[in-house]
Amino acid sequence: MPALPLRNIWILKVLTSASETLTVSGWLFEAGRSAKHAAILERLSPDALVVSPQGLPARHYTDGELTAISDRVGAIPRRLTFADGAVFETEDNAGIDRLLSERLAASETFLARLEVFHPRLIVIALIAIGLIFATIRYALPVLANMAAAVTPTPVIELIDRGALETIDRAFLKPSNMDQIRKDEIGAGFAALAALSDTGQIGLDLIFRDGGIIGPNAFALPGGTIIMTDQLVRLAGTDDEIFGVLAHEIAHVEERHSLRQIYRSLGIAALIAMIGGDSGEIVEDVLAQGSLLLTLSYSRRFESQADTRAVDLMKAVGRDPAALATILERITEKCRNCGKTSWYTTHPGTEGRSEAIRQRAQK
Ligand SMILES: [Zn+2]
Repeated sequence: MPALPLRNIWILKVLTSASETLTVSGWLFEAGRSAKHAAILERLSPDALVVSPQGLPARHYTDGELTAISDRVGAIPRRLTFADGAVFETEDNAGIDRLLSERLAASETFLARLEVFHPRLIVIALIAIGLIFATIRYALPVLANMAAAVTPTPVIELIDRGALETIDRAFLKPSNMDQIRKDEIGAGFAALAALSDTGQIGLDLIFRDGGIIGPNAFALPGGTIIMTDQLVRLAGTDDEIFGVLAHEIAHVEERHSLRQIYRSLGIAALIAMIGGDSGEIVEDVLAQGSLLLTLSYSRRFESQADTRAVDLMKAVGRDPAALATILERITEKCRNCGKTSWYTTHPGTEGRSEAIRQRAQK
């Protein structure tokens, strides 16, 4: 490629091709015939050729119809073969070279056009950037949902066991609640669980002293729901406790925490997951089991879980608005409880109480 910038070459070509018409003298052989006719080959435009044989009609070709050009070897005549089988032969090697360079110029013209109309390139670049953002914004949740849907139950159970171990080691202590109280809450939980639809995932309620986590409850993907003693003590009525449990059951039903984990892993990991390679992901999740504690649900997941909780509470004959009451208690007590508080990991509490009460009244 010459050192001149493309745009200059383009302008140069336009000037030269406007000022001269390229002609090459030679012979035309018609397809399948041995008779040869004296003929002139001419370039009409960067993409149009015409062969004018003496005493015969002119033939028009595009460059695309020029199917073969023999190499330049000494003084041996050059042969140009066209798509219709006609062959043009000439001893004017230099003329053919000039004609071919004009053809090159045609393809350069395309590049030159891109170069000249660079605003179009900027638009193309902007569209490409937009697509990348759209992929991250929209494809990630879709892929996360797909991955969550295809994750086999044994893998989910493995995530639960690993995550619980890590959380226990890092944050929680054994519960101080007496067994009678645990059994009471366990019975109410079983009634809610019996009406839930978690597919193959079994639900399991366990109690812990929350330590720095304070009044809290969270659901692991495999159906393990952890409730802290502090939350049980904070509740004004048992229905408030069951409202929270119903909400956590809904998160398990919808595989919210699995979907949220997958969203945090990124697209490459999700594609591997959907492709059946779950080993690495499970390792990732287990390596940062505490991730599950700080993972905040999306507001949409929260309102979905609230809606479902209200319905479950109605179905077991409990007060569905109690969930709103305990949300307000937690908000009041835990405004500054830090990253792991229920207030932080279940966002949008303010608007939620109102929505819960409205649905409860329906
Ligand atoms: Zn929630």
